[in-house]
Amino acid sequence: MQSKAKILLIYTGGTIGMMKDFETGALKAFNFGKLLQKIPELKQLDCDIETVSFDKPIDSSNMNPEEWIKITTIIEDNYVNFDGFVVLHGSDTMSYSASALSFMLENLSKPVIFTGSQLPIGDLRTDAKENLITAIQIASLQMDGKPAIREVCLYFEYKLYRGNRTTKINSENFNAFISPNYPTLIESGVHLKSFSELFLPKTRAKKLRIHKKFENNVAIVKIFPGISEAVLSAIFLIPQLKGIVLETYGAGNGPTEEWFLTLLKGGIARGLHIVNVTQCSIGSVTMGKYETSTSMKEIGVISGKDITTEAAITKLMYLLGENVPANIFKTIFETSLRGELS
Ligand code: ASP
Repeated sequence: MQSKAKILLIYTGGTIGMMKDFETGALKAFNFGKLLQKIPELKQLDCDIETVSFDKPIDSSNMNPEEWIKITTIIEDNYVNFDGFVVLHGSDTMSYSASALSFMLENLSKPVIFTGSQLPIGDLRTDAKENLITAIQIASLQMDGKPAIREVCLYFEYKLYRGNRTTKINSENFNAFISPNYPTLIESGVHLKSFSELFLPKTRAKKLRIHKKFENNVAIVKIFPGISEAVLSAIFLIPQLKGIVLETYGAGNGPTEEWFLTLLKGGIARGLHIVNVTQCSIGSVTMGKYETSTSMKEIGVISGKDITTEAAITKLMYLLGENVPANIFKTIFETSLRGELS
């Protein structure tokens, strides 16, 4: 007989546990104990659940690398004693955190499922209960006595996605996330429908390696028709800047004006890593397809391929934090490390 899965629920904050401030009417993060009292259904689940909470739960707009390290350290300290982890997190920056943790947790062999909600758990029409209960059930799934999922995922509104493929697209609907360039891993209906061929493949058992260094001297720059040399050069010439995620048009295209390419070229010569990602939600960067991206390819701009901006910026911060040598940085960035690009 299989023993019950042990799941650790990590509460970081977010709408799911928020209540209205009496004076201002604004939603703010609240005490986790009260949150759990609101979901007696958790006791009916066929798994053992333990909980741990941030001392000060936060709105995820205040998320940053120090908080990512806190979540990762909780997972690290409890890794051998639990079969899976569910992280309750605000939806606003959930895709960034799920991407960051996917890079921080190398050789993960247990599920780490991020979830949250659009309405607080105390609200009559809340989406929190379904998200939380199903996220725990998914984290408990086993195959041959081992966790079925071995990666960082995000569960929201009946769908499980690879976390580093997601992006928040809706602040109004319960269906807040999409995974534009990678299919859904599990769909929740009457049954949980698993598309296990899409899960990250099992690799030879390797020890979990944790990475906790992030470089935050980076920027995301979205180009637009008419963007000026003065504005762009002010950013490119920031002395301590180490990397830029450049959001370009379509299949990775940008202006062919000389000042623009000179700025990029000069940056790369000074050791700046420039990653080309597309402003389109769906599709991939293919430098060289149009004349408007050929020069970027020639001067050594990194192709983000079909990566999301959230995964691109966290991957950039992670690889810079790891001090990946300049001569292999581009190759490593363009390689899928945790299934974040095709
Ligand atoms: N502002 C909230 C947060 O991200 C929104 C949410 O939880 O959905 O913490």
